[in-house]
Amino acid sequence: MLKKISDFNENSNFDCCIIGAGPAGITCALELAKNGKRVLLLEGGQDDISEQSQDIYQGEVKGDPYFDLSVTRLRFFGGSSNHWEGWCRPLDKHDFENKGDFKTAWPITKNDMDGYLEKASSILEIDDTYNDKPIGNSGINHVPFGYSPPVRFLDKYYDAITAHQNILLLLSANVTSLETDGLRINSAMLESFSGDKKRVKAKEFILATGGLENSRLLLWSNELSNGQVVKNSTSLGRYWMEHPDFTIGSAIIKNDVLGDADLSKRQFLAPSYDTIVKNKILNCGLRINPNNYHGTEKMISDIACVAPKLGRGLVSLLGKNLICGYKIRASWEQEPVKENRVTLGPEKDFFSMPRIQLHWKKSKIDTRTVKQTILTLGNYLAEKNLGRLMLNKWLLDEDGYPENDVLAGNHHMGGTRMAENDELGVVDKNCKVFGQENLYIAGSSVFPSSGYANPTLSIIQLALRLSDHLKNKT
Ligand SMILES: Cc1cc2nc3c(=O)[nH]c(=O)nc-3n(C[C@H](O)[C@H](O)[C@H](O)COP(=O)(O)OP(=O)(O)OC[C@H]3O[C@@H](n4cnc5c(N)ncnc54)[C@H](O)[C@@H]3O)c2cc1C
Repeated sequence: MLKKISDFNENSNFDCCIIGAGPAGITCALELAKNGKRVLLLEGGQDDISEQSQDIYQGEVKGDPYFDLSVTRLRFFGGSSNHWEGWCRPLDKHDFENKGDFKTAWPITKNDMDGYLEKASSILEIDDTYNDKPIGNSGINHVPFGYSPPVRFLDKYYDAITAHQNILLLLSANVTSLETDGLRINSAMLESFSGDKKRVKAKEFILATGGLENSRLLLWSNELSNGQVVKNSTSLGRYWMEHPDFTIGSAIIKNDVLGDADLSKRQFLAPSYDTIVKNKILNCGLRINPNNYHGTEKMISDIACVAPKLGRGLVSLLGKNLICGYKIRASWEQEPVKENRVTLGPEKDFFSMPRIQLHWKKSKIDTRTVKQTILTLGNYLAEKNLGRLMLNKWLLDEDGYPENDVLAGNHHMGGTRMAENDELGVVDKNCKVFGQENLYIAGSSVFPSSGYANPTLSIIQLALRLSDHLKNKT
């Protein structure tokens, strides 16, 4: 059902109030409603983009060059799925563990997520099998990705949500704070753009406002309640992460190196766990995009200028269609550091809520991760005479990242990380906020570490897992 805020009765009772109708919130709403729960779904935007709603996402970035915060996400029904690209892959088993000395472990394992892979994949309309294959003894694996059409949650689920007897959807329902008695969330305050204000009540609350706003709403609710919403706020807003995303070089690779892969399409590579630990790095996704014949020819002639014998050999392989040139991009795991964080800035939005200040920098480990991963591949190709790699100068010299590149993945992770206890994080392994009986978080803000996989498939898996937990909660 869809209702106007002005017609909403504050005395209505709901089993669950979900704040935010992006992929995470919509998945929880449908799952809980299917199991007989009465769900109130609150969406700050409308059913289309509007300047007024996008403006709430304006903020300030301090540190490395990053996107305009009102462009890197969308604030209306369906959230950022209205412009996501649909690349999908589950996190690796070792993404849930410490990587060498790096504290990247989750309090759950990949096994805890795997049970939700099939259902999450059907929601995103992708295959659910991922057969990673080692490339010889290189220490690098060939790793498949799935491509969602991409599913736009507005197009796919708006009618189902508004027709559902167990779901009440309010649009333009901007939640501005959560109110607690110290043990439970009693209510959420919401405001519309036309000035309606309501207090909503429910047995359980799920915060699903995205990987930046989850932190913002909790930080602000904490400020208003004198720290009573997240009582131990040591990690709140902190350990925020992105996937840095840059072009790092090009390569000529013999076709049989990637087995029976379709070489006319983009392929993905990543370091094995042993490579990660041996090199003291984090996880890293390499994307190798095939060049056309003439592009490959040009790369070989460049090589021939410095290594004529090698160049001649490569030309003969090109003539027999046994070799291809690739542009190499990387998108990789960032070290979770507490200085990378969401804070409340001095500027206020339309609802007088402080705008975000995002503090984000890449670390030495981040640079080392991408460099060591690509060098591991390059050394193997050269040793076995299977190809050659040309790294971009900035990466070889480590003289700073280019500013005219993609920069990052628009993946907003961390800020309300999952942990064993409230000293280390904000939510427990069931995504429940420590110290509150009925406040849960859905979305990538709960990731304690990020691997290199694009986050949405994991977000849906976690939303399904959270819904299961709430279905069974007595
Ligand atoms: C350009 C781009 C490309 C991307 N490509 C990929 C990709 O290929 N693969 C991938 O895995 N991921 C990709 N992503 C990321 C992906 O879009 C997100 O991971 C996903 O949308 C997160 O879902 P979510 O529900 O957690 O948050 P969101 O999608 O951000 O949804 C949050 C919802 O909460 C609402 N909201 C916010 N604040 C409030 C409030 N105070 N009160 C009420 N409602 C509120 C918002 O309007 C929104 O509808 C991409 C993102 C971008 C921007």
